[in-house]
Amino acid sequence: MTDLIVAGTLLTMDGDRTIWTDGAVYVTDGLIRLIGQRCDLVQMHPQARILGGPGCIVTPGFINSHQHLTGDRLIRSCIPDDIDSNEAIFDWVVPIHEAHSGDDDELSATLSLLEAVGNGITTTIEAGTVAHPERVAGAFQRVGVRGSVGAWGWDNGDSSLCGTTDEVMERQQMVLEAHASDGLVQGWVTLVGHDLSSDRLYVEAAELARMAGTRLTFHLSPSIDDGVAFLKRTGKRPVTHLADLGVLGPQTLIAHAVHLDDEELDLLIETETAVSYCPWAYLRLGQGVSSAGRHIEFLHQGGRLALGCDTENAGDAIDALRVGALAAGLARDTSMDPRSFGAHEALELLTIGGAEAIGMDDKIGSLEIGKAADLVVHDTTGVASTPTSVDPALQLLWAGDGRAVRDVVVDGVPIVVDYKSTTVDHTDLVAEANEAQRRLLSQAGLAPTPRWPVR
Ligand SMILES: [Zn+2]
Repeated sequence: MTDLIVAGTLLTMDGDRTIWTDGAVYVTDGLIRLIGQRCDLVQMHPQARILGGPGCIVTPGFINSHQHLTGDRLIRSCIPDDIDSNEAIFDWVVPIHEAHSGDDDELSATLSLLEAVGNGITTTIEAGTVAHPERVAGAFQRVGVRGSVGAWGWDNGDSSLCGTTDEVMERQQMVLEAHASDGLVQGWVTLVGHDLSSDRLYVEAAELARMAGTRLTFHLSPSIDDGVAFLKRTGKRPVTHLADLGVLGPQTLIAHAVHLDDEELDLLIETETAVSYCPWAYLRLGQGVSSAGRHIEFLHQGGRLALGCDTENAGDAIDALRVGALAAGLARDTSMDPRSFGAHEALELLTIGGAEAIGMDDKIGSLEIGKAADLVVHDTTGVASTPTSVDPALQLLWAGDGRAVRDVVVDGVPIVVDYKSTTVDHTDLVAEANEAQRRLLSQAGLAPTPRWPVR
């Protein structure tokens, strides 16, 4: 493996949040070995390949803590946006998932991960809706990015993807066995969640994650529906019920948790349960985050929070900086307090804070010696970045998005160079993706039509 120097204004996200204005990171064997002034490192290692340089900002790779890699991707922007979220999920997304072959899963995940890495996301937590985990793991390897994968975990529904509790647990166990190593892809226990998992499945899944030393993730309370369903079935709010079952804890990452009462908020903090916050999805689906969301309150009380992009028909773009800016804007507007949460806090959630929430902060999330070399070079020589700011966090978060991501390194390997993936050329996948979309829609009996007349 060749050694690398990645240079620019470094946003290290270390304990002091140190910034180097003309800094560089020296990388060998996948690890960050040195951090210092660019000229010193270049002098010490004249043979190293150099990425970035003056006019660039270098950040740790971004963390996307909730992303569906299959299903939605191949019908991106086909689901109408004037239907409710249950109709979107059960009449569109689930039938498309049911029609997916293993090839579709790999194609879909490859496209999603290529888009993600092109916007600086180097670690992706799959959300728990994968029918062919090995094919999705193959996509991670092919694109060259880090993340987690699990298998469909759903024992309380009428879809062909639903299984008995034993079948679901067996699938989860198989994924953990296949990805127990310390490679790019980790096996996680993944449930669909909501009120679509039995109590037994929740309990056994949490136990499996604890025993295997890995993580559990599932969806809960993006809208008011889970609260209504849990109250009817158990007499308790969702988080309270899961706390009583012993499902919460530091190993658990709950996606959403938008609608919480005071007791639920306290329980998440007390149990150190992490939450993935995906604001685009709640806005796109009209789920009430601007009136009910308590994520920033949760964070300020010591809650473990990360950001996620969710899925293509609930936010559409897999772009960490767009999500960060939205989270910051929502926090300030809903609290009517511009000091409550801003660019710096959002960048923390996309890097070291997000890494902590997914249990990987010993390895990724900041530019520090000994950590894995997951780095992003943002080119700030373009019109949108001229003139550059003295505060790169303000510039990246409020004025930027993934379009300035020029180079990306994961585990010491340059996988995006000069805006192009070095591992997969997406243009090779265009015909295949268009054909897959046509076939999947037809198989699922869906016929999207534009709202406006087409001539
Ligand atoms: Zn989701």
